[in-house]
Amino acid sequence: MDMAMAKITENVPLAGKTTYQIGGPARFYAEPEREGEIIELYQYAAERGLAVFVLGNGSNLLVSDGGIDGLVINLSAKFVAINWGDGKTVSVLSGFLLDDLAAAAAERGLAGIEELSGIPGTVGGAVIMNAGAFDTEIARTLRSVRVLRVAGLTIENLPAPSLGLGYRTSVLKGSGDVILSAVFEFEPAADAGRPLSVREQILRKRNEKQPLNYPNCGSVFKRPAGNYAGTLIESCSLKNFKIGGAAISEKHANFIINTGNATAEDVRGVIRHAQEAVYEKSGFLLEPEVIFAGDFTKPLYTPEKS
Ligand SMILES: Cc1cc2nc3c(=O)[nH]c(=O)nc-3n(C[C@H](O)[C@H](O)[C@H](O)COP(=O)(O)OP(=O)(O)OC[C@H]3O[C@@H](n4cnc5c(N)ncnc54)[C@H](O)[C@@H]3O)c2cc1C
Repeated sequence: MDMAMAKITENVPLAGKTTYQIGGPARFYAEPEREGEIIELYQYAAERGLAVFVLGNGSNLLVSDGGIDGLVINLSAKFVAINWGDGKTVSVLSGFLLDDLAAAAAERGLAGIEELSGIPGTVGGAVIMNAGAFDTEIARTLRSVRVLRVAGLTIENLPAPSLGLGYRTSVLKGSGDVILSAVFEFEPAADAGRPLSVREQILRKRNEKQPLNYPNCGSVFKRPAGNYAGTLIESCSLKNFKIGGAAISEKHANFIINTGNATAEDVRGVIRHAQEAVYEKSGFLLEPEVIFAGDFTKPLYTPEKS
């Protein structure tokens, strides 16, 4: 039996492990390389009554200033491998970056994921959220996933249709279960050069429309039915609205940027303010897409019940 367990370190700062560059430390932290190590880490946490938080690339995450009181398992560091099967099928470990997968598929002339170019998350984070852009979602090419059920530490292979993949959601979201790996199947493009040119076009568009020169977490709010979060926020004249170091981007109102030294509480305050202003003006209650980890002093906005 392999007795080498993934190394566990204490009090590890998480800010640098998120695209927001915000947040306090993990009380315990590990970077597993193999499935067996992930299971051992869950056993370690269970024996000590520690909560576990699975970290991907931290690109859809606001970690609180106090950090995460538990064991943070970072999959984006070493749990990364890609295996091409029959030329259009690929199996990837969940810590592998989605954008690297999009690049690899496009370089092979394979279509189906090129529209997701530039999304800076891991495959695991993208599956949990059913990440999407430009009318394409992960669901389009995902065939199956290998999941660790944390309740009994058993592993199951689940076909994509059983995952309840919807707009930025899946049945696994919030379940605590861990995506270990995923199988995708792409289509050979009629014009083999097209996936790569679409990819390049999309990367350019993202750069034009998104404030990528500041740390951010992508779209902060989900798209409300029949409208756009950015439009609703802009109509409240909130572009450049700022609390501490956190500001609503001038370039795209559904982005809250870290202008330098923003705290998680600053970002949370801006989120709450935008929710309240939009609700009062238009009656839409914006629902955050960003995931909160750790404890925050202020709750999100809820309209007063009349
Ligand atoms: C500039 C920018 C642009 C973006 N554009 C888009 C976009 O166009 N479309 C879009 O959908 N998103 C977009 N995002 C948001 C984000 O990149 C995606 O939601 C991404 O899928 C998150 O993956 P992650 O690995 O960073 O997850 P993290 O932020 O690390 O984690 C998010 C959640 O997923 C959970 N999680 C992560 N990995 C696993 C796993 N293996 N098993 C179980 N749970 C897991 C975490 O516990 C957490 O709850 C953007 C973000 C940025 C910064």
